[in-house]
Amino acid sequence: MTQSVLIVGAGPVGLALAIGLAKAGIAVTLVERQAEDELAEPAFDGREIALTHATIAALKRLGAWDRIAADAIHPLAEARVYNGASPLALSFAPGRSGTRQLGSLVSNCDIRRALFAAARQLPSIELISGISVARVATCENEARIWLDDGSDRAASLLVAADSRFSAIRGQLGISARMNRLGKSMLVGRVAIERDHGHVATEWFDHGQTLALLPLCEGQASAVVTLADGQAQRLAELDEDATSAELTRRFARRFGDMRMLTPLHLFPLTTTYAHRFVTQRAALAGDAAVGMHPVTAHGFNLGLAGTERLAHLAASACQKGSDLGNLGVLHRYQAGHRAATWPLYATTNVIVGLYTDERRPRRLARRVGLQAARLAPVSHTLTKMLMRGA
Ligand SMILES: Cc1cc2nc3c(=O)[nH]c(=O)nc-3n(C[C@H](O)[C@H](O)[C@H](O)COP(=O)(O)OP(=O)(O)OC[C@H]3O[C@@H](n4cnc5c(N)ncnc54)[C@H](O)[C@@H]3O)c2cc1C
Repeated sequence: MTQSVLIVGAGPVGLALAIGLAKAGIAVTLVERQAEDELAEPAFDGREIALTHATIAALKRLGAWDRIAADAIHPLAEARVYNGASPLALSFAPGRSGTRQLGSLVSNCDIRRALFAAARQLPSIELISGISVARVATCENEARIWLDDGSDRAASLLVAADSRFSAIRGQLGISARMNRLGKSMLVGRVAIERDHGHVATEWFDHGQTLALLPLCEGQASAVVTLADGQAQRLAELDEDATSAELTRRFARRFGDMRMLTPLHLFPLTTTYAHRFVTQRAALAGDAAVGMHPVTAHGFNLGLAGTERLAHLAASACQKGSDLGNLGVLHRYQAGHRAATWPLYATTNVIVGLYTDERRPRRLARRVGLQAARLAPVSHTLTKMLMRGA
């Protein structure tokens, strides 16, 4: 019996899962509402994704890493976190772990382009693009989807990789924690005057969180998190006014800043699904776990989840069993929850502590920062961030 999987959403996670399954000999139908040319040449969306070593190794196995141009990969040597104007920094550096860098930064559009090109090489992936999945249903024997044009497809398993606002998740009867934070993150490339030294720097400031992600020499990604209304106003400024405003907000730490791309705005909502699986269906990527971007792990965790699911599905096939059976799905759920919940919960605590302006919280973060600077704590946090859980 040929077993097959339906995947809704050809974002980076849907694409990675499709490749992983296809390489294990499983037939995949991947449905994406964006047109094929948008998938082949995705537009720059401002996101520079910090990739861990485990993610880079996984992208190599999928045949995507070598499709990313060398000058589009930026080394990340260290990450430093500051509390307001305090000169005390919490530093995350590889140190004793034996590697030279924390990871690498690559634009989201370059990751998506590379994964799409790798997926297109595999004949067992059927791509249906430029159309949405309108409805899904599962029963004991199969999972079925209906497209906007009324046509349908069936498979042994359905995977929803349709973003943190997943409509398919709701149709499957799976609820999720959803926290709308009332804040938005603005991201865009800037030219800077002072050397970034390949260090990512983050400041939890009063009323704003700022980050500078190092790209090539003289260039960086500026990340500004503000209350929704303020973020909207900043996004509407013209190029010169935006450059001046960023230079002011970053207190000239990197000299004058000059916009190289427009700022892209992302309203912040974190999500965590109450279950990751149900009869003949699973959630992957942001549809399962929508991380706050501050610890830079949404894609890293989503990709690890696709490897887990592809591996379990492949071993079921090798044993001649049904890849969509509940035993397989429950093992995926248990592994993915164990890998994601600690980082999801820790990230939310950090965000709460560092963005709450009330006096007890301000005191708590000063004490917390001092404690986290102690070598064993800092070392544990670095290891957690480097491996992604
Ligand atoms: C500002 C920012 C910075 C980030 N930085 C990092 C970082 O440094 N490191 C990191 O690991 N992660 C980071 N992330 C997180 C990362 O971008 C996401 O985790 C990742 O993009 C999730 O991929 P996905 O494929 O699950 O979902 P998405 O990228 O949201 O893709 C979902 C796809 O599903 C399609 N779709 C939706 N509904 C349907 C439907 N009904 N029918 C057909 N298609 C459908 C959509 O068109 C889309 O293509 C960041 C996120 C943001 C916002």
